[in-house]
Amino acid sequence: MEIGQNGLSGEVALVTGASRGIGAAAAEALARAGADVALNYKQSRQAAEALAERLAVSGVKLLPVAADVGDAGQVGAMMEKIEAGMGRVSILINNAGITRDSLLMRMSGEDFDTVIAASLRGAFLCSKAVARGMMRARRGVIINVSSVIGRRGNAGQANYAAAKAGLIGLTKSLARELGPRGVRVNAVAPGYVETDMTAKLPDSMKEQIVKNTPLGRLAAPQDIAGVIAFLASPAAAYITGAVIPVDGGLGI
Ligand code: NAP
Repeated sequence: MEIGQNGLSGEVALVTGASRGIGAAAAEALARAGADVALNYKQSRQAAEALAERLAVSGVKLLPVAADVGDAGQVGAMMEKIEAGMGRVSILINNAGITRDSLLMRMSGEDFDTVIAASLRGAFLCSKAVARGMMRARRGVIINVSSVIGRRGNAGQANYAAAKAGLIGLTKSLARELGPRGVRVNAVAPGYVETDMTAKLPDSMKEQIVKNTPLGRLAAPQDIAGVIAFLASPAAAYITGAVIPVDGGLGI
């Protein structure tokens, strides 16, 4: 869905994991709708800077900011930079996430913890960092990027599925907690999206996924970004605590 030009003007958005894939597409959709956007990344500085340069034509402020979202100190420093450079965050997109797939018997505790830190603890830390300002202003939007895997589970992805299911619990809890203060909290649950994350999947697996997807294709990052921009916009003013599948019907 296209959000009208400048529908988000005056908003300050933070997109975590904005250097590539879904995060980059979400940052672009928000910027095109008129929001200033902080582009968080962990290590892809060049990609984040290139995106900022490309989006600058839309006339909004873009600020690349490095931080490992699983690290409270780095999140705190990132928030200070954003506040100084752009002002109070009014839209938070918790998109950063990673996979470390293996079957349970081969999954190390470290692989479990690393995935939870980037994909779930990061959303908790960033939400906590922006919530006070949003509650004071009595307005704000938080959108968590979960997954069809968080709704259904997947063999070989116990860590990732736990993180993504955790995001659904986090979404619903924060929607209850922050709703009375004017803050909406929602999640999107994408199916399989063509990004670096899925590039490593074997072709036979992708063919199987496409076969099981009623719409008959994988998603493009823009398919997810459009729904994120909609949820961030006033058109979604009465939606909170929702987990919206954006999966071509895969999760039916
Ligand atoms: P991607 O192309 O692999 O990009 C991941 C992004 O997250 C990068 O910008 C990366 O930054 C950033 N990141 C990773 N760990 C981070 C950390 N600890 N702190 C800050 N940033 C971090 O992934 P994607 O496919 O776009 O996925 C984005 C989100 O959508 C993830 O949460 C993923 O689980 C979810 N999702 C993806 C799919 C799919 O099929 N692709 C399906 C459902 C849900 P660097 O570039 O600096 O490493």
